Amino acid sequence: MNSPVDECPLCLNKNTQDYARDPSRDFSLCSICSLIFVPRSQLISSSDEKKRYDFHQNDESDEFYRKYLNLIAESILPTLSEGEVGLDFGCGRTTLMSDLFKKKNFAVDSYDLYYFPDLTIWSKKFNFIILSEVIEHLRYPMEEMKKLRDLLLPEGKIFIKTKLHPGDKSFFDNWFYKRDITHVQFFSEDSLRYLAKELSMSGPKILSEDLFVLTAASI
Ligand SMILES: [Zn+2]
Repeated sequence: MNSPVDECPLCLNKNTQDYARDPSRDFSLCSICSLIFVPRSQLISSSDEKKRYDFHQNDESDEFYRKYLNLIAESILPTLSEGEVGLDFGCGRTTLMSDLFKKKNFAVDSYDLYYFPDLTIWSKKFNFIILSEVIEHLRYPMEEMKKLRDLLLPEGKIFIKTKLHPGDKSFFDNWFYKRDITHVQFFSEDSLRYLAKELSMSGPKILSEDLFVLTAASI
């Protein structure tokens, strides 16, 4: 059922193995970076993806979502220094995260492929970039993370909120997180470590539940 070569979208290893199967798609496991991923040939179209976001995504009126973002911001804020500027990459339909940081005197730009496609971010530099429930959606994770890495100032940080796969097949088979068809890969701590190394960053360091930070060198 898998395409002839299910290349790992993170490390580009071609020697990957079938791992699990849902009615609508397959999952492969990479033996090098331990990413579990949906073969790129099985991804839904961008327009179908946007329809799902339009239907499901959180907005300002959702108190639970506000509290959820607030917890993330509270974990990140103590690691920042005064005057640092950030980017909320993949912010979704709202600028709520940016608003939370503004209240604490940090300027944070918002970008979202579908809802805030502000291309000026690509000519800016940031002290920190937040990807909250984003990295599991990226079609070309290594390419996109390298582009983001290039936007970082020295000692810049990338905060990644995502659920890690535990490397346990029976857990994975029943995992709610894999049922969302816009989630197209699942990192382990080793996958994040591989990513950090490729980006010449240190980490991942665990900040709070499902929240990790990668840090760039000072030069
Ligand atoms: Zn890999």
